[in-house]
Amino acid sequence: SAYVFTFGGGVRHEDPRSRDKTIVGGKGANLAEMAGIGLPVPPGFTITTEECIRYLAEGADFSDELRAGVKAALGHIEQAVGKSFGNPADPLLVSVRSGARVSMPGMMDTVLNLGLNDETVEGLAAISGDKRFAWDSYRRFIQMYSDVVLGVDHHLFEDALEIAKEDNGFYADVDMEAEHWQALVGEYKQIVARELDRPFPQDVNEQLWGAIAAVFDSWDSDRAKVYRRLNDISGDWGTAVNVQAMVFGNMGNTSATGVAFTRDPATGERAYYGEWLVNAQGEDVVAGIRTPQYLTKAARERAGAKPLSMEEAMPQAYGELADVFELLEKHYKDMQDIEFTVERSKLFMLQTRSGKRTAKAALRMAVEMVEEGLIDEATAVKRVDPMALDQLLHPTLDPKAPRDVLGKGLPASPGAASGAIVLDADTAERLAGRGEAVILVRVETSPEDIHGMHAAKGILTARGGMTSHAAVVARGMGRPCVSGASQLSIDMGARTLKIGGRSLKEGDVITLDGATGDIMAGLVPTIEPELVGDFGTLMLWADKHRRMKVRTNAETPADCRMARQFGAEGIGLCRTEHMFFDASRISAVRQMILAEDEAGRRAALAKLLPEQRADFKAIFEIMAGLPVTIRLLDPPLHEFLPHTEAEFAELSDAISIGVETLKRRADELHEFNPMLGHRGCRLGITFPEIYEMQARAIFEAACEVAAASGEAVVPEVMIPLVATRRELEILKALVDRTAQAVFAEQGRTLGYMVGTMIELPRAALMAGEIAEVGEFFSFGTNDLTQTTLGLSRDDSAKFLGAYVDQGIFQRDPFVSLDVDGVGQLVRLAAQRGRATREDIKLGICGEHGGDPASIAFCEKTGLDYVSASPFRVPIARLAAAQAAL
Ligand code: PEP
Ligand code: MG
Repeated sequence: SAYVFTFGGGVRHEDPRSRDKTIVGGKGANLAEMAGIGLPVPPGFTITTEECIRYLAEGADFSDELRAGVKAALGHIEQAVGKSFGNPADPLLVSVRSGARVSMPGMMDTVLNLGLNDETVEGLAAISGDKRFAWDSYRRFIQMYSDVVLGVDHHLFEDALEIAKEDNGFYADVDMEAEHWQALVGEYKQIVARELDRPFPQDVNEQLWGAIAAVFDSWDSDRAKVYRRLNDISGDWGTAVNVQAMVFGNMGNTSATGVAFTRDPATGERAYYGEWLVNAQGEDVVAGIRTPQYLTKAARERAGAKPLSMEEAMPQAYGELADVFELLEKHYKDMQDIEFTVERSKLFMLQTRSGKRTAKAALRMAVEMVEEGLIDEATAVKRVDPMALDQLLHPTLDPKAPRDVLGKGLPASPGAASGAIVLDADTAERLAGRGEAVILVRVETSPEDIHGMHAAKGILTARGGMTSHAAVVARGMGRPCVSGASQLSIDMGARTLKIGGRSLKEGDVITLDGATGDIMAGLVPTIEPELVGDFGTLMLWADKHRRMKVRTNAETPADCRMARQFGAEGIGLCRTEHMFFDASRISAVRQMILAEDEAGRRAALAKLLPEQRADFKAIFEIMAGLPVTIRLLDPPLHEFLPHTEAEFAELSDAISIGVETLKRRADELHEFNPMLGHRGCRLGITFPEIYEMQARAIFEAACEVAAASGEAVVPEVMIPLVATRRELEILKALVDRTAQAVFAEQGRTLGYMVGTMIELPRAALMAGEIAEVGEFFSFGTNDLTQTTLGLSRDDSAKFLGAYVDQGIFQRDPFVSLDVDGVGQLVRLAAQRGRATREDIKLGICGEHGGDPASIAFCEKTGLDYVSASPFRVPIARLAAAQAAL
């Protein structure tokens, strides 16, 4: 039907919607795909994402068509497996799982073993010949269903299980026999009846619809919303629901369940990687209740672990699994993340998807898959998420630095992180909000911890394997993570922890090495990353496919050098005001601002000239002939003023003006709305001698460097916050005059350009006229966003979260360009500018120049370059290539 698509059991739909992720979700599409290529997939059906949206919009109501579709699809499963739903003699059991368009690990709900009740459990016991298995499955079902669907606190069940084990003198779940599970089921049912005032539902159809509703509802849960916001997933997508015949990994010692990757998701190495458990169900592996075992012999031996790997313990099933790995990689041409179950020696595939991976692994896989002939270079370039490169560009621990190792866990997500220990997610978020570096330390993380994981520099857990939620989510976020540190114990009451015989308290600083699993006391120094190897190879491929140039926003020599190492092809924005804050010259700057007249200002400017000239010389030398855009002074003058009494007193001494006079001048400069006040070119219009000094410094430096190096130095002088043609005309004349004067003095001339920023709506609208004067435009999308939306750059962070949560903005418009609104102005200005001056050079230097989605827009608009902060340069190179492909 249009609402439900079946898969497995020999069906194959012609309707492309049956394999379309937007309709049946990622999990549903891949299950249909796997079944279609003949892999052993238990039969099932998928309810579309459209039904989820309809259900949520219509106030939690199922349509008659959906009910009919589900009934028919259930019939398909019954026929395929030869069992029937609710039949006490031989019951069909199903799993009910969510599956959105993109995977949201652990963010939504799953129910297993659905279809069990007091009667069918007996049938399951008889048919399987295994009473213990049947009652174990039933108690799992009651616990999961009650938690996910009925909203009963899962701790109540966990506590009851602990007590049952204690009463019987057992240590582990595996010690529990059939009668113990049966007794526990009785207690579980009592818990439900007590908590809800009604019995646990025995009607299997009521169970099924309850689970479907819960999956739909989980789309709008708080944790799903937070996850969506962090990962730019739209709330309109909805989730599909997958209902599938159960297969059992907990039918004794010839049964098992596991999670595997076709390549190592942490390093990218071409080696199967995974975890499995004998006689267990899927949840046992990911929940970290039992410690999973290694999949391959090699991995087990490398870790020095004892329990047999699947390769050793179940060679035949493992062999089949390895064949499936190869088949899936060839089919999807990407690394796959797989869930499987072995039921009495027979292998079943429960899920496959493109696996999440660290940036390092993504690079290595992309490069190696090209070498293996699996994909081409362009695909490799498209395969790596530009934002993930960020992980690689940041420092790692200095291998030579001493390490005070407290203990070790699993290397779950690479990278180095130092920070203060914090024991809960809310505190982590609060302290990080104050700018503190924190490490979130938990027994295990649950999806409710996601905001704290995001706020933390790193994550440490006592429990959970490499595929635990903590590990998967941390890798996705690029947070270093050490999981499963079994020597770690936490006392939440005292807010302390013990590890390696040492006691620490919340607030103590530790360092994590996510690549080795080391947990260290104190702060360990770091070293700069290496930009060679796979990174270098992929970047070369990206550069081949890129049309736009990538420049950087930088003004210090260190930043300029770093940006060049990262591949910057020039400077797109040198913010000269940053140079004015330098401690050695701030008093001259203040003297300039507070001067009563032009003569006073000129005296102060004379002190600043040699300093500015030296700044620009250093930049021209480092950039060696690459284009350098220097923006003349922009900020409101009051930003430079002293604030404290001591600062006033110090300044008074330095420039011999009385404190009272200084304070009066400072008061006069006070502005109510400085962002729209006396800043940008308005400073140049009213105090031309400031811009004149800067222009002089630029041209003197350029002449000196050109003379010394013989290289062409082509400065691009940029006028900020222009709204009218006339402003630019006046200031361009000033720059031209100054250039001619310098050239005459130096006895040489050089090429230069004068252009403007487009950062006010009027400038965008009047771009045709402004281009008569300006030789280039650089879109200052920070201010253009601020002024187009009437949204303060400095004050909006407080409420933008609510705007994103409510879907008013998909993303923070200061991070990712508002293409629909602000983008129109950019497009229009580009068109009008080009209409006047065909070869006008167009670039962007707002923060958006380092944001992949905004870069894609710039490519479409035909800009010549983007300019990004140094660490974003590689991201921009890759994003620009992806945009061009
Ligand atoms: C801008 O407004 O986008 C810009 C680059 O200038 P600044 O951020 O310095 O205001
Ligand atoms: Mg600006």
